[in-house]
Amino acid sequence: MSVDSFRFLLGDQLSHGVSSLAGLDPERDVVLMAEVVEECTYVGHHPKKIAFILSAMRHFAAELSERGVRVDYVKLDDPDNSGSFTGELERAVRRHAPAKIVVTEPGEYRVLAEMETWSDRLGVPVEIRGDDRFFCSRRDFARWAEGRKAPRMEHFYREMRKKTGFLMEPDGKPVGDRWNYDPENRKRLPKDVSPPEPKGFEPDEITREVLDLVASRFGHHFGDLEPFWFAVTAAQAERAFSHFVKTALARFGDYQDAMAQDRDTLFHSVIGLYLNAGLLDPVKVCRRVERAYRDGTAPINAVEGYIRQILGWREFVRGIYWLKMPDYAESNALEAYRPLPAFYWSGETDMNCLSQSIGQTKRQAYAHHIQRLMVTGNFALLAGIAPKEVCAWYLAVYADAYEWVELPNTHGMALHADGGYLGSKPYAASGKYIQRMSDYCAHCRYDVKETLGETACPFNALYWNFLLEQQARLQDNPRMAMPYRNLARMEPARIEAIRQQAERFLRGLEPAEAEAW
Ligand SMILES: Cc1cc2nc3c(=O)[nH]c(=O)nc-3n(C[C@H](O)[C@H](O)[C@H](O)COP(=O)(O)OP(=O)(O)OC[C@H]3O[C@@H](n4cnc5c(N)ncnc54)[C@H](O)[C@@H]3O)c2cc1C
Ligand code: SF4
Repeated sequence: MSVDSFRFLLGDQLSHGVSSLAGLDPERDVVLMAEVVEECTYVGHHPKKIAFILSAMRHFAAELSERGVRVDYVKLDDPDNSGSFTGELERAVRRHAPAKIVVTEPGEYRVLAEMETWSDRLGVPVEIRGDDRFFCSRRDFARWAEGRKAPRMEHFYREMRKKTGFLMEPDGKPVGDRWNYDPENRKRLPKDVSPPEPKGFEPDEITREVLDLVASRFGHHFGDLEPFWFAVTAAQAERAFSHFVKTALARFGDYQDAMAQDRDTLFHSVIGLYLNAGLLDPVKVCRRVERAYRDGTAPINAVEGYIRQILGWREFVRGIYWLKMPDYAESNALEAYRPLPAFYWSGETDMNCLSQSIGQTKRQAYAHHIQRLMVTGNFALLAGIAPKEVCAWYLAVYADAYEWVELPNTHGMALHADGGYLGSKPYAASGKYIQRMSDYCAHCRYDVKETLGETACPFNALYWNFLLEQQARLQDNPRMAMPYRNLARMEPARIEAIRQQAERFLRGLEPAEAEAW
């Protein structure tokens, strides 16, 4: 039977309001959804992440069917499944002969490039609609960034506050007369404060079937599939978010940068995976969080800090991604070429901060921002790991990772591989930072106060060695003036000993095998 149009829906477009579904006629149009192996394996995604996306897709398809929409759903284990988006569209065009195909632009440049070939390859007109599930369109971001040598998140964020009215007074001033409460948001977790657990859900029949499938097809990828506790529908994601607002939001700000032994989520919301797949709407999330401030149930440092992540950072990195791709991914401003160490795929290292951050990534497909930036990211920066290898790791291991958000955060923010386009200075830090923000060092075989010797914390020598190696590139950066002043005060003999210590450590790193997942 021929149909008017196909609405082709990707696994991170699970929103009933997504642009590709606008104007859908249930009598004449068909929604096509396909689980394809190519998307599960172009990097070796964490099994929990694959299970989350496949289960959420199946639940979304069931909701559409309940609403009377005709859904053509191709499962991963369908014997005729071609394994790629293009292959599935070719087969579906043969099945339904649609007059046109409607899609929402994807979250990855790679997929957009593929989409742009579809019209010619399939012989059917393809309409690619913008993704309006963001506060700032690609075009508006490009307009804002035009003429700026180095766009900065803080400037963009203030514009977004004014544009949307979040946390603004009627006279146009920011609530509390300050735009940013970050200085209040750097506390360590005290011993007597117990963070709540995020809301989890028992797998239902659909999820169980997906878990069996993922175990048999992708069980060898890095990461633990079970226990599986993620929300897989919008209703469940709303409950998980509500639980965060009730139990954690008020202290989100205070402990936003804290890390603690065996505490995976602290006061973070663990909703990135739901937002990015379309199960939660960022507008509603920010409204709900602002209401908590207006109701007096959460303080301004928590609420401003939280809204900044979504209205500021999330939108900003997306804008940068689409503005700068595809060249962005190719830059390597610090000329970092070392292979990814094997312990990124096992967590087996004596460095406790790394083993904690990677160990929980393996268990949960989750680590919070400071673990990603200041532990695994900082190590990769200081050790000069090749950006492409680091980015592939981050894209694979986190349940919320899609290239539009992962790449600017990893390549730009954590690795400074874009030469400072996204962030004004590298987030390089010695062990002192990790000691200040966590109790990891108290459980580590290394001594964070030492720089030289067998038991010295490796981050310390690596930090000074990084400053030395990158001196020509970084010493004129005004935000690096203090570290370079400290370096200038160091005795030449100590500098030489640090260099040798760092070199010995780096030589001892075992590289990961190709496709080690
Ligand atoms: C090296 C590195 C890689 C990262 N990769 C990803 C990724 O693949 N996907 C991803 O969604 N986030 C990524 N982030 C950003 C951030 O770490 C995660 O969004 C956050 O940890 C998700 O956990 P949460 O939902 O508990 O967030 P919370 O701490 O509770 O924050 C709330 C929400 O704010 C948004 N947010 C916070 N920080 C950022 C940021 N820097 N960029 C974009 N959104 C942000 C997220 O949607 C998040 O869910 C990365 C950060 C770094 C440093
Ligand atoms: S001593 Fe160094 S390696 Fe060990 S946990 Fe602290 S910062 Fe990490």
